[in-house]
Amino acid sequence: MRKYTIAQFNEEFPDDDACLEWLRNYLYPKRVHCPICNKPTKHHRIKTKKVYGCDYCGHQISPRAGTIFEHSPTPLKLWFYAIYLMSATRCGISAKQIQRETGVTYKTAWRMFNQIRSLLQEDSEPTSGEFELDETYIGGKSQGKRGRGAEGKTPVFGVAQRKGRVSALVTDDLKSSTVIPIVKERVLPKSMVYTDEFPIYNSLKRHGHNHKRVHHVSKVWVAGNAHTNTIEGFWSALKRGMNGVYHAVSEKHLQGYINEYSFRYNHRGDDKPIFKTILERV
Ligand SMILES: [Zn+2]
Repeated sequence: MRKYTIAQFNEEFPDDDACLEWLRNYLYPKRVHCPICNKPTKHHRIKTKKVYGCDYCGHQISPRAGTIFEHSPTPLKLWFYAIYLMSATRCGISAKQIQRETGVTYKTAWRMFNQIRSLLQEDSEPTSGEFELDETYIGGKSQGKRGRGAEGKTPVFGVAQRKGRVSALVTDDLKSSTVIPIVKERVLPKSMVYTDEFPIYNSLKRHGHNHKRVHHVSKVWVAGNAHTNTIEGFWSALKRGMNGVYHAVSEKHLQGYINEYSFRYNHRGDDKPIFKTILERV
């Protein structure tokens, strides 16, 4: 992950104006399209407001329109700082931390937290390649019998492309009829898929995939190319991360947490700092 330090952040975004200017340059890299003149025209900053005016007709546009900042009275610098905080942590932060670090109310921090988190969802276009599929259960131990299933654990199903992305979904159960559609949304037919011996994967060949299994029951973890070490490594990192931040991630917020964790995992090798990747999705 390319490092982006707090010093770099403060230098690039010293105040609200710098944030607004970044937003304008990002949304309109050349000229701003004026809806009145109906063409790209030069715009100038109107000092007293957080807007830019068309040099010909005076029509004003706000770069915040259509972004997560629209309708928010919170200063842009605090928004950018909250995004920075979420990008700079390894296992995720809470709305409480945003409240502490930015000084906004808890209600505002909670809204910001959810808005920023909503940017972290990755699309799932099906691709071809080599994939590992695996299932796990999260939670339960400390929460007694509340939650799903007899042990109060929540099933999660994951698809990891080797040398690619991981996506993981909270599911109602781990039946074949639940997981196969998830696989189809992410993995093109004829791709190579690796799993353990769990029977839910029996129909993968019928669905057109090349399928190899490792027999974990007989303590075989790797057989040639066949292993599920990528997705299992992801599960253990995810669970370690959850222990680091939250005492318990409630079932309701589990998918949001997993999305955030996966996003960070999937972008860890990027050249671009994660902060900029999130900022470019606002
Ligand atoms: Zn105009």
